[in-house]
Parts: sequence; C-alpha cells; structure tokens
Amino acid sequence: HAKDGGRNAYRFVTKEMGARSRERMDLEASLRRAIRGGELFLVFQPQVRISDGRLIGVEALVRWRHPHDGLILPDRFLPIAEETGLIVALGDWVLYEACSQIRRWRTKLNLTIPIAVNVSGAQFRDGQLPAKVSRALDANGLRGPELEVEVTESTLIDDVPGAVATLQALKERGVQVALDDFGTGYSSLSYLHRFPIDKLKIDRSFIQDLTGQGADSTVPRAVIGLGHNLGLSVIAEGVETEAQLAVLRELRCESYQGFLYSRPVTADELEPLLTRQPVDAA
Ligand code: C2E
Ligand code: MG
Ligand code: MG
Ligand code: MG
Repeated sequence: HAKDGGRNAYRFVTKEMGARSRERMDLEASLRRAIRGGELFLVFQPQVRISDGRLIGVEALVRWRHPHDGLILPDRFLPIAEETGLIVALGDWVLYEACSQIRRWRTKLNLTIPIAVNVSGAQFRDGQLPAKVSRALDANGLRGPELEVEVTESTLIDDVPGAVATLQALKERGVQVALDDFGTGYSSLSYLHRFPIDKLKIDRSFIQDLTGQGADSTVPRAVIGLGHNLGLSVIAEGVETEAQLAVLRELRCESYQGFLYSRPVTADELEPLLTRQPVDAA
C-alpha cells in the first residue's frame, strides 16, 4: 500500500509539474506578446505628506490586462518575467510609460506630479539604467526630480561598488531614489550610508504591526530614526487605518501611501484627485 501511495504520489507530482511548466511556457509566450502588444498598463497610488495631507507624488504599479484571463497582478507575472529576462523589456516599458504619463498630466492638467517607478535587480544591474532613464526624461522634456526610482536592498548589496556607481549616475541626473520594502531584506546597515539615496520606504508588514493585537512599533520607530539620522525622508507603505497613520505621525514619519488614502488607480481615475487636491512636488 505504501508503494502504491508512493507511485501515485510520484505520478501526481510529475503531472502537476508538467501542467505547471506548460502554464509557465504559455505565460512566458503571452507575456512577451503583452509587452509588445499594449496589454500592460500602469496604475498609480498617491503618496501623501503626513504633516499637511498634500499629495507629493504617485507610485506606478504595473498591471496586465490579458485578453482571455483578464487582469493579472505583478505577483503572478513578475517572477516569470525575472526568470526569463523579460523583466528588462518590461522595465523599459514601465519607465517610458511613467515618463510619458508625467508629460501627459503636465499638458492636460498643467501640473507636475512626480512618479516613483519600481526597478528590478536585473534592470538595475544591466548597466544601461542611467542612460535609459536619461533618454526617457529627455524624450518627455522632464527634469530629473520628477522621477523616482525604487530599488530594494537585495538589488544593491550584491555588488556594492557597482550599485553606488549606478545610484551616483542617477543622482547626477537629479533622479530621486527610494529604498523599497525597507527592513525585510538584509538590512545591511554598514552599507546604507554609502548609498546615495533619498528615501526609505518602510515595508507594509511593519505597518500592519503598528495597531491591533500585540501592536509593535519597534521597527517603524527604528527605521524612521535611522532614516532621519542619515538625512533621508521616510515613507510608510500599506497604511490602511487612521490608527496606523496616527502612530506614524507621532513617530515623525514624513509621508505615506496605502488603501487608507487610495488604492492604486488608473490614470483616468486619478485625474479628479489631482485637480481637486493641490500637488506639492517639493
Ligand atoms: P511594492 O513596490 O512594495 O508595491 C506595494 C504593493 O502594495 C502594491 O502591490 C500595492 O498595490 C500594494 N498596496 C498598496 N497599498 C496597500 C495597502 O494599504 N494594503 C495592502 N494590503 N496592499 C497595499 P502590487 O501592485 O500588487 O505590486 C506588488 C509588487 O510588485 C510591488 O511591491 C513591486 O515589488 C512589484 N511591482 C509592481 N509594479 C512593478 C513594476 O512596474 N516593475 C517592477 N520591477 N516591479 C513592480
Ligand atoms: Mg515599490
Ligand atoms: Mg514596497
Ligand atoms: Mg513589496
């Protein structure tokens, strides 16, 4: 019986794996098409200054409108994009689209709204990021500070001198740099001061811990203190409740984003908010 069970389990596993790799190959092929064929789009989540409630920018988040399967979220297709190297083409598209959107809002609404773009490890290490960023800015007549690049710690610590050089090149163009998901990675405190960055983003998991049962503000407090000591601004992500926001205000965190203020929304959906709420890009 144990043998039968084993054989069945084996058969089950191979069947599973076959189905999974088929699904993967399908996804890879259709993702390749999606990048070229206009199935990707960006949604934008407002970032708000805590002291006065003003909008200071938006984070661009990629979405995939699959012709048959509908909306697909990044958690499902970014791993495949990364494994296949498609992430670089996808990242190029996101970067250019974000810069085009800044220009479109300027033309249409007569305002400047900075956009933060997530940059993957492969895209950051590809050596051409500063040149690509420069081209995307120039093509859309933008100044550097209108764009922010979000990278994670793990992207930076593989090759610290290389990362410093890439960040330096971005800084020379005036682009802002934020360290995303801060606190979840290696937290290489010994390297942090060497990176020319502007902002720390406290990971959503620590914001969740701020309130409710067993509330714990240890990590946000430490990150905010560390950021301020390094002369960096601190933004909290994933803020869902007024109680969380109150703690962040108490801790002197500069800004936040999260469902409390707004979910990520399409460019069209964001426009009424942009015109109603003055943007302060400073
Ligand atoms: P992230 O950069 O840390 O983005 C924050 C994620 O948290 C987003 O998920 C956002 O929709 C979600 N979020 C925002 N506010 C709240 C909240 O109050 N509560 C909760 N529960 N969630 C909130 P999303 O859009 O699914 O993106 C997931 C991750 O995928 C991103 O995490 C980022 O690492 C990656 N990603 C998204 N767009 C891009 C992109 O264009 N390029 C690259 N390379 N990565 C991207
Ligand atoms: Mg991000
Ligand atoms: Mg994040
Ligand atoms: Mg994240």
